[in-house]
Amino acid sequence: MEICSVCGKKSLLPEKYRDTSLCKICSMKILSPTWKSKKYLSNDEVDKQKEKVIKFANVNGFSTEVIEDIAKFFEDKKIHGLIKVFHGERGQTLTVCETYCLIDTTENFDYKETEKAYLKLMTPGKRGESSSSGMLDSVINSQTAVGILGDVVGSMIPGGRSLKKQIAQAGKNIALNAITQKLNGDNQSGTERKPIILCVHSGERLIKYNDYDIVKYIEPVGEEECGFIKLQNSKFANDSEEDVLFFFGSRSDTKKEARQLYEFIKMKINTINEELKNSTPVYEAPVVEQKAPVSSNADEILKFKQLLDLGAISQEEYDVKKKQLLGL
Ligand SMILES: [Zn+2]
Repeated sequence: MEICSVCGKKSLLPEKYRDTSLCKICSMKILSPTWKSKKYLSNDEVDKQKEKVIKFANVNGFSTEVIEDIAKFFEDKKIHGLIKVFHGERGQTLTVCETYCLIDTTENFDYKETEKAYLKLMTPGKRGESSSSGMLDSVINSQTAVGILGDVVGSMIPGGRSLKKQIAQAGKNIALNAITQKLNGDNQSGTERKPIILCVHSGERLIKYNDYDIVKYIEPVGEEECGFIKLQNSKFANDSEEDVLFFFGSRSDTKKEARQLYEFIKMKINTINEELKNSTPVYEAPVVEQKAPVSSNADEILKFKQLLDLGAISQEEYDVKKKQLLGL
C-alpha cells in the first residue's frame, strides 16, 4: 500500500511518475487516462501534452516536486532528434529523425498486393523507370556450378555483385542464361524478364542517411493505390536487395506528408554528401598505398575457361576473350 504524493491518502494501485505516486482520484485531476499510454507522432506533440498536464497539475495545487516528476515522464517520451512518426497506411511506419530514419514493417503489410502495385509503378514507359535485373527466382539445382559461377562472375562482370547474389539463389540453367546474356551485352530484345522480388522484410530497419545517396519519391496518381519512397546507395543501385522501400497510401493528406518527409530526407542526404565532399583536405599527406590484389590475365583466362567448361560461354566467345587478354 502506497501513499499518494498529492493527497497523502493510501492507494492500492497508484500511478507512478519517478518518485511520485498518484492515487486514482489525483491522477484523474490531471486526466491521466487520456494521455498515459498515448503514442506521439512528434516531440512537439509531447511538449504540447506536457504543457496541458502541467497546467492541470498547477490548478489542482500539485507540489513542485510532483510536477517535475510528471514533466520528466514526458521528457522520457521524446525520441532524440525526432522529426516525425508517419503511418503510411500500407502497414509500414516511418520514423524520421535528424540523422537516421526507421522503417517498421508490420504484419499488416501486404507483400503480394504491394509488389503488384510496385511493379506497375516501375514498368518501363508507364512511370519512366525500368526494373533492375532481377530475372532469377528459381530453385537451386546445382550448388557446385552455381558456386563457381557466382564467384567467377561476381569478380569479373560489371554489376556482378548483384548477379552473384541472384545466382546464389537460382538454378544452374537460369544462371547460365543470365551470364550469357550479360556477356553478350545484356541488350537482347524480346528476352522475357521476371519481375523483381520486393525487398521488404518485416520488423524494423534502421537507415542512416550517410549510407545512402539516392532518394526517390513516386507519388500515386489516378487510381494507383500506393506510392513509395526509395533509398539507395549508388554503389549498389542495381541490386534490388539493397533497396529500402517505404510505401504510403493515396489519400491526399498522406501523400502530402510523405512528400514533406521525402523532402526532409533528401535534404539531409544531400547535406551529408556535400559535407563529405568538402571535408576532403586540400593538402593530403602522402600515404603508403596498399593496393588490392588485382587478378592477372592468366587468372582471367582461367575464369573464362571455367565458364567455357560449364557451357556458359561458347568456344568462340572464349577464344575472343583469350585473345583480348593475351593482347593478341
Ligand atoms: Zn491522491
